[in-house]
Amino acid sequence: MESKLELESILLPGVSAKRPIVIAGPCSAETEEQVLNTARELAANGIKIFRAGIWKPRTRPGSFEGVGSVGLPWLQKVKKETGMYTAVEVATAQHVYEAIKYGVDMLWIGARTTANPFAVQEVADALRGTDMPVLVKNPVNPDLELWIGALERLNRAGIKRLGVIHRGFSVYQKIKYRNDPQWQLAIELHRRLPELPIINDPSHISGDSELILEVSQQAMDLNFDDLIIESHECPARSWSDAKQQVTPAHLKMILSDLVIREAQIGDKPRTELDELRQKIDMLDKQIIEALATRMKISEGIAKYKYDNNITVLQSRRYDEILNNRRATAEQNHLNADFVVKLYEEIHEESVSRQNAIMTELQKQQNK
Ligand code: PEP
Ligand code: MN
Repeated sequence: MESKLELESILLPGVSAKRPIVIAGPCSAETEEQVLNTARELAANGIKIFRAGIWKPRTRPGSFEGVGSVGLPWLQKVKKETGMYTAVEVATAQHVYEAIKYGVDMLWIGARTTANPFAVQEVADALRGTDMPVLVKNPVNPDLELWIGALERLNRAGIKRLGVIHRGFSVYQKIKYRNDPQWQLAIELHRRLPELPIINDPSHISGDSELILEVSQQAMDLNFDDLIIESHECPARSWSDAKQQVTPAHLKMILSDLVIREAQIGDKPRTELDELRQKIDMLDKQIIEALATRMKISEGIAKYKYDNNITVLQSRRYDEILNNRRATAEQNHLNADFVVKLYEEIHEESVSRQNAIMTELQKQQNK
């Protein structure tokens, strides 16, 4: 892939090079009025690139699946009236042809599409011969090769103006965010393809308008280039992703609260040691988050044990845990005694939490 492309050079004269460039706009284009009202407010706040979903890939059928091509002239109006560039998601060849026909400036490939090589290939083939800028979201599953594969398909079709969007990964268990950021995956992608601008999508990671600043700040501290944030004139009334959208005024506040630190201190470049330490910090964060999830599940078990009159400590189960963790440690070339020691601690904490919960439940019942 080509030498370092900045989002502003990908697109666009006039888009400020100041980090981060922010792409903003509603999850979905709903009505002409909603699109134009939102766009006007965003433009007045200095946003230069307007996003809106025209075709929406929804997890379950029956939800709003986008207005389709009738929304494209609304984006033309946005462009004409505000001067903002426009960006939409494409998933089929037809989407590509329609978007280009209506003068859309930039395309992105959604997370569900990136996970499907047939669909990515179809989009890449439809783009052949154009020089459209294309941003590729990470696939819904945490598979770095699949993400890179999608970029390669576009690159081989002659698309050179590429960027990536990190929007987090689906996980089954309940976590703080809608999608698990797994930051180390995005960092690894950036390490392997440093020439591509990397954009964070705090809206789809957090799934919560109250957490946009927190995730954006993390992204900036991890040296991401830019942000894509969902903004709607009235989030509560939006037809998709209502919980995570922010008003243009709220977005303005978020951006002014964001602290942008320099990647380099003076002219001292980041050392390899800094990079390695950053990876360790990331992994420790994941280990602690996994421990928190483990404790939550263990609390659920306490409730089950209480309801079914089972003792907290089940020694057979405890032996089974230790033996199994010892084997896993060995498979991973870790010192098994160290891992067993760690699990003795974890198990002790888990048992003491379960005890506390059962005592509490008993107290409530005795009331
Ligand atoms: C979107 O950007 O509105 C969208 C559908 O995102 P994702 O592909 O990340 O789910
Ligand atoms: Mn959305």
